[in-house]
Amino acid sequence: NAKRAGRGKHLRYAPAMQEAQRARLELEGDLRVAVAEGQFLLHYQPLIDLASGQLLGSEALLRWQHPQRGLVPPIEFITVLEEMGLIAEVGRWVMQRACCVTARWSHEHGRALKVAVNVSPLQFAQGEAFVETVRAVLAETGLPPQQLQLELTEGLLMSQSEQSLALMHQLRALGVSLAIDDFGTGYSSLAYLRSFPVDTLKIDRSFIRDLGPRPEHITLVYAIVQLGHNLGMKVTAEGIETAEQRSQLADLRCDTGQGYFLGRPVPEEVYARLLASGEPLVPAIVAPV
Ligand code: C2E
Ligand code: MG
Ligand code: MG
Ligand code: MG
Repeated sequence: NAKRAGRGKHLRYAPAMQEAQRARLELEGDLRVAVAEGQFLLHYQPLIDLASGQLLGSEALLRWQHPQRGLVPPIEFITVLEEMGLIAEVGRWVMQRACCVTARWSHEHGRALKVAVNVSPLQFAQGEAFVETVRAVLAETGLPPQQLQLELTEGLLMSQSEQSLALMHQLRALGVSLAIDDFGTGYSSLAYLRSFPVDTLKIDRSFIRDLGPRPEHITLVYAIVQLGHNLGMKVTAEGIETAEQRSQLADLRCDTGQGYFLGRPVPEEVYARLLASGEPLVPAIVAPV
């Protein structure tokens, strides 16, 4: 009967659930150690001016050097850090490290390199405390605020819009710039977009991936670029994997880009060598006469 079948099912699934629970507990334990012992590091992905091919700076991307598992990508632990209430602490470390290193590189190379840092909605939800963190990190590292961009998620444009708006203005008053990450995947209404003090739209990778095989996506990407420009924003494309995508985007007057074709995320030392070499990562696009 049904009851018995249900019980059987329960018994059959129990070991799997226990295993998931055990794995989760182990992950949480490992993350506590990681925070205490500083097992995190950053990779830096080049940010490129699409027309000239010039290196403008980087996006800092979090990695976890697990003693047994090796390098763990953020998808596997960011949400857990958020749920454990540890993301603010780790997020502060990310910002501190990224700003410190970028200030040093800028000094060494005599140019104002930019750095973009991803901000969890939970960091943003701290309100004044988050603004204070940004202010403190800028003061501690000496990075000019104009060189720091904070990447916010599209969802913030919807939730508690009054508070979000005020907070964005406070951050902008510090001199930092704001980007909306993964733009086009969330549910931001265009009306909201107009009222928020955002400097940059980062078009989500999914739109770029489909540029070649799906020409109608060119129309979509062009619309986003126009929208951004008409609102006085810069537009960045993420996930550029081919030379063709790069030139298509440059043709659409998309300002800047990131992606495996332009440069993969690399460890600090590798990015430093890249900077030192002074070589353009990709050639300039020569405008047809
Ligand atoms: P994101 O901010 O949208 O970062 C872009 C992601 O796309 C990165 O993955 C990057 O390695 C990957 N990517 C870049 N170019 C290409 C490409 O051409 N093709 C493909 N297939 N992928 C590309 P990653 O480093 O694994 O980070 C994933 C996400 O984790 C980030 O997405 C961001 O949302 C989050 N994240 C990373 N670091 C932090 C952090 O310090 N704090 C917070 N709160 N979130 C972070
Ligand atoms: Mg990002
Ligand atoms: Mg993104
Ligand atoms: Mg993305």
